[in-house]
Amino acid sequence: MAVYADFCSRHVGVHGETRDEMIKELGYERIVDLIEDAVPAEIRDGAELDLPEALSETDALELLKMIMGQNEVFKSFIGQGYYGTHTPAVIQRNVLENPGWYTAYSPYQAEIAQGRMEALVNFQTMITDLTGLDIANASLLDEGTAAAEAVALARSNKPKGTTVFVSDKCLPQTIDVVKNRCEPLNIEVLVGDWKSFDPSTCEGLFATLVQYPNVEGAIEDYAEFHEKVHAAKATTIVAADILSLTVLRAPGQFGTDICIGSSQRFGVPMGFGGPHAGFIACIDKLKRKLPGRIIGISIDPEGRKGYRIALQTREQHIRRDKATSNICTAQVLLAVMASMYAVYHGPDGLRNIAFNVHEMAQVAAGSICSKGYEIVSDSFFDTITVKTPGQAEEFHAKAAEVGINLRSIDADHVGISCDETTSIDDMMALLSIFDVEEPVVPNEDEVAWDEVHERTTEFCTASVFNSYHSETEMLRYLARLEKRDLALNESMISLGSCTMKLNATSEMIPVTWPEVGQMHPFVPEEQCQGYLDMLDSLSDWLAEITGFAAVSLQPNAGSAGEYAGLLAIRRYHADRGDKQRVDCLIPTSAHGTNPASAVMAGMKVVPVKCDDQGNIDVADLKAKAEKHADTLACLMVTYPSTHGVYESTIKEICELIHANGGQVYMDGANMNAQVGLTSPGKIGADVCHLNLHKTFCIPHGGGGPGVGPIGVAEQLVPYLPGHIGMENNEGAVSSAPYGSASINVISWMYIAMMGGDGLTEATKIAILNANYVAKRLSEHFPILYTGNKGLVAHECIIDVRGLTEQSDVTVEDIAKRLMDYGYHGPTMSWPVAGTLMIEPTESESKKELDRFCDAMISIRQEIQEIIDGKADKENNILKHAPHTAQVVTRDEWDRPYSRQKAAYPMEILRDHKFWPYIGRIDNVYGDRNLVCSCAGMEEYGEA
Ligand SMILES: *Cc1c(COP(=O)(O)O)cnc(C)c1O
Repeated sequence: MAVYADFCSRHVGVHGETRDEMIKELGYERIVDLIEDAVPAEIRDGAELDLPEALSETDALELLKMIMGQNEVFKSFIGQGYYGTHTPAVIQRNVLENPGWYTAYSPYQAEIAQGRMEALVNFQTMITDLTGLDIANASLLDEGTAAAEAVALARSNKPKGTTVFVSDKCLPQTIDVVKNRCEPLNIEVLVGDWKSFDPSTCEGLFATLVQYPNVEGAIEDYAEFHEKVHAAKATTIVAADILSLTVLRAPGQFGTDICIGSSQRFGVPMGFGGPHAGFIACIDKLKRKLPGRIIGISIDPEGRKGYRIALQTREQHIRRDKATSNICTAQVLLAVMASMYAVYHGPDGLRNIAFNVHEMAQVAAGSICSKGYEIVSDSFFDTITVKTPGQAEEFHAKAAEVGINLRSIDADHVGISCDETTSIDDMMALLSIFDVEEPVVPNEDEVAWDEVHERTTEFCTASVFNSYHSETEMLRYLARLEKRDLALNESMISLGSCTMKLNATSEMIPVTWPEVGQMHPFVPEEQCQGYLDMLDSLSDWLAEITGFAAVSLQPNAGSAGEYAGLLAIRRYHADRGDKQRVDCLIPTSAHGTNPASAVMAGMKVVPVKCDDQGNIDVADLKAKAEKHADTLACLMVTYPSTHGVYESTIKEICELIHANGGQVYMDGANMNAQVGLTSPGKIGADVCHLNLHKTFCIPHGGGGPGVGPIGVAEQLVPYLPGHIGMENNEGAVSSAPYGSASINVISWMYIAMMGGDGLTEATKIAILNANYVAKRLSEHFPILYTGNKGLVAHECIIDVRGLTEQSDVTVEDIAKRLMDYGYHGPTMSWPVAGTLMIEPTESESKKELDRFCDAMISIRQEIQEIIDGKADKENNILKHAPHTAQVVTRDEWDRPYSRQKAAYPMEILRDHKFWPYIGRIDNVYGDRNLVCSCAGMEEYGEA
């Protein structure tokens, strides 16, 4: 059948006669008529996207292989936060390459996310153990941003603090990200030698940050220093190397309050800078303000233990302008991988790896010193810095000749970091450039650090880290957890605003190519031509799609994009002598990351009202813009609106802001309703972030990774984030110059295979599918907002408030009941409390849309039974949902509805049934009895 000849027809779920049928159902003859009515004429773009012709899956893979083939993968001794690592094959195949893991959504619906939350609790346990601190979260974006988050956390502990001290021996990219994050908040960053820094004389000191081992490789004793910092009532932060912690004293043992780092070298490929999971752990006292998601343990109505996101009320989307962090999407998939690396190797295996790496570093140090060179510190773990006065260039050149990279420091030093992948051949190649012929091998059991640095505490003692060391056991553990989670390989995940579309296999395949995975982010430019080419074309394509002058791929989540975009605006105003322009207008319906990002960018949030239709109240906007005209920095606006409607006033809104001296920031989370039909540039915005993990097919990974590039208009181009070591070296928002570089291949593949027409077709079908669902459900639930001709954009909101009033059934009850029908609930209570926001995306077929609508309609009938008094208001099928196999098959059954109705409410489920692993989780209980690691799990719930 010709219909399926191209990739577009595989990506899009609706074609041919079915497509015509759906269009007719909506009262239209042709799709263009539907689009003309749905998308306001003022913003519609007549021009077609100027993108390369669509390629087949095979051809696109072949072309990308050729492009990435230009990369020269040298052996890396660069270190500086990124290390070679062996991803255990069982983890690569069954997690990284497995849609059961990578297509899952963030774990907001706990009962169908137990598998990945168990893995995340393992991650937290591993981090808590290794750092020797009380509590850890389930990942941050990278090491640099984790350090910046730690500084913000420390500041919230001493709000009057003005100054943070940062050791000049921290990783340079970390120092840079911290500086950039502190600048808009007027926090002074003192960078210097920690040994000569006196905390007692530093006015306003609220935190110190040191690196362990430091950037030169030296292991230093911070115990006394930390005592002095504490005496000055400041918080101590340590950036630590995760592998070294298996053999070195835990930071918690020398007075560390917060420890951060990267878990990359636990089995996650370097990927030219990312993605990988940053970590943060802290002392108990700071836990309520710890940024990011923390997974905790709680119980279900049967008293069975289960996991859920703990302390959710601290999350940024609720704290809005009081937020100290804007992190939303984190790095769940990579945290899962790192935790599984520890599960597979166990504590002894990890220690073994660490000692092997250390031995290699000792060989390097001993051999190089035997040739008369000096190293800067005799106390090291995996990294040494060699003094090569005036000869560094020469050594880099010699290294390149034998296919290896050293860390570039200055004219007089080179850095060498060993890692798990350093082989004897690699070592011989390294030593050859120092003219070593006979390597000097250290004495057995000898280490290059003093006894005080020796690790004396145990880690990863929980049974999970000591049970799955054979591949068979590991494989089954992974499979067991995977089956507890509902991901896109099970059914549609209709999460409004999150665009859970197809993550095609061909898009994913390049991610694990060695030329993609094994590239260090700081290699010389001539070695990464493939990457630069690929990233360049992707940036160009995204610029074309957004209608902007340039795009930066550096931000590694939507939230990071928002922050980078606002910084660009801030710097633009400042350069024009308008430093006072700091007011940021944000509609009350905005996503929580918007105000949080604004606060982080040093802006003042000015809320703007929305009208009954969910549109921005233009009169209120006008009044606020004019009132704040002298101090107006920008407006942050989501388009189509967070209510899923194309506001026809959007152009007028942009003009109004410009007339008052402000810039327009567009939140591009809803870009799936724009691609090919209109664009932020065309509409009149100045900057926009995209979520490549929404519109451009990067999978959600169960809560990350993401990529949040920003596109900007001409005047903002100079203010795009740069990176130390790049020509534009200002304003970095991530540790790596291209952020989570490796997963950009996914979006590259998507655009290459869709072409301009395909992308536009996807947008049209996304609109068709959303309107089809809205139409079918509108007979059973009120649709909250519609635009022109009663149409919605790419998502629709159903209003449950009236039903809740009559029946006590809440949106949460509906989401839980949907699990019994094999579905993940839509977005709950956002942007309007008591509603559900459904976004089906273009990838779903009519059959799947109908099945979902049937489930919703069936639930509506169950609600009607309560309203009609046929079912009890408390003891009913919705309040007891979800139903586990255990509950349904119990010998006793005293519920007022049948078991059959509980578990098989629709005929179609007989063919295929997804069983929620656990009953409804008690959030309140979990927060009151906070346990966030495996230790303590055994006794949990019995108290
Ligand atoms: C998803 C989303 C964001 C945040 O993006 P992350 O990648 O999770 O940081 C911001 N705004 C809107 C409207 C979103 O839907």
